Amino acid sequence: MSKALKSELPKTIDPYRFADQESVLEGFLPLSALERFADSILGAASSDPREQCQVSLVFGKDEERRRIVSGELVADVMLECQRCMKPMPVRLSSSFMLALVTSDEQARNLPKDLEPFQTDGFTANLWDLVEDELLLVLPPFPLHERGECEATAVLETFEPDPAAVVPDTEKRENPFSVLADLKKDRH
Ligand SMILES: [Zn+2]
Repeated sequence: MSKALKSELPKTIDPYRFADQESVLEGFLPLSALERFADSILGAASSDPREQCQVSLVFGKDEERRRIVSGELVADVMLECQRCMKPMPVRLSSSFMLALVTSDEQARNLPKDLEPFQTDGFTANLWDLVEDELLLVLPPFPLHERGECEATAVLETFEPDPAAVVPDTEKRENPFSVLADLKKDRH
């Protein structure tokens, strides 16, 4: 899925028809359209929707004639490092196998390796599916790699304590000197 995808993933489709026809769908979707997920991240890593989240879905049937959809997705997002509170780029990826169901009873009867994908039998919202999968793989406690984190000094304990983070003042410009420079430029 590294190639650039040209089309947006359709929002709603007829999943049973797709499964019977063994259809394959590939497309991108804008992360800002996924409200619950968008609220959980700082933003997309790219402003181009084609580079934010790429999805590939394969519809079909398993050996027990259950309609299934297997898929892969990749999303490049910005998260807040929970040690230094600075933004960090994170690539989220997921592969999944879902079985189409139209009732809770069908969902309960699935084997353990199949997750239910609830539909009304005629329409399924693929963007909701993608959003649910993204929320599942979102790390609850994102951290920079060692050496890349601005709070590296407190790394040794591995218990991040925001109060213990001492800003590296030597590297920072004094805001007043920046202001003074700005004023100088204007005259
Ligand atoms: Zn960090």
